[in-house]
Amino acid sequence: MTDSSKRESSGFTFRKQVDQVESSGRHLPIVLNAVLVFSITAEVSYLVLVEAPLEPEQKKTEWSSMWKAMHLFAQYFMLGNITWNASLFVKTNPSIRGVFLGGDALGQGWRYCYNCETHTPPRCSHCYDCNVCVLRRDHHCVFFGQCVGFYNYRYFLTCLLFMWAGLLYAVFMNAEVFIVILKEGVTFHSVLLLLMPWIMLVSGQVTARAFAFAFIADTCVVGFLLVAAFLFFHVILMLRGQTTREWYSTRQPYNLGAVANIRECLGKYWYICWLCPLIPSPLPGDGINFKVTGSLEPMK
Ligand SMILES: [Zn+2]
Ligand SMILES: [Zn+2]
Repeated sequence: MTDSSKRESSGFTFRKQVDQVESSGRHLPIVLNAVLVFSITAEVSYLVLVEAPLEPEQKKTEWSSMWKAMHLFAQYFMLGNITWNASLFVKTNPSIRGVFLGGDALGQGWRYCYNCETHTPPRCSHCYDCNVCVLRRDHHCVFFGQCVGFYNYRYFLTCLLFMWAGLLYAVFMNAEVFIVILKEGVTFHSVLLLLMPWIMLVSGQVTARAFAFAFIADTCVVGFLLVAAFLFFHVILMLRGQTTREWYSTRQPYNLGAVANIRECLGKYWYICWLCPLIPSPLPGDGINFKVTGSLEPMK
């Protein structure tokens, strides 16, 4: 092997390592999210199957097994919707790559992107993480390393909706855990276990089992509050026909009225498509041309 080919191959290996680090950096939040979602589901399944909150004499009745089956069905329905929508969200390309932007029919709101070296339609903006312009760009989602744009907004919203529903359910199921911990009274020990389970585990004050339950119960409450606030914000944006950027600049030029705005985001079958990602729901627009109903200038 000559020196230059050695250098080339070592440069190639280095490039490969950088790529690997970059891709593992991108995938880390997805892996962490998946671990959390699956641990919470496993914990609530355990609560239903092993510690069903029923009176002991009810435990072996037929109603009890029906009750358990219904709970398990609801859990895995929500889990299925979260993971399926999340994977479709990541796989669906919201950028201008592979989209015909229509020759020279440039109108109001079109801009030139110096990074992509092309004219881009209204509501489209460049993402420096994805390094491409994204149609009707909302924001770059750091948890999935993907931009939220025109083509994947439906999956983003549905994933958020089921995360909210799933966490609300998990908080209710975990109420039992809080009750068990607080049954001994509001002592220093029980409050610390609820607020800082890590410290209690490291200092050997509680068993690993008590820690796991307290930790998951805490995660559910914190996760629920965060997801609820985020979902609320995006539902408001959807009803107003705005993207996050337009909300910041207080512009609302694409408002078509609540129902039409929902249809713009979720597609023709908006009233049913959120139940399952398999239900096709074609979007009315093309992500390039938008009906302008108000002033494009920021409101004072
Ligand atoms: Zn660009
Ligand atoms: Zn992005």
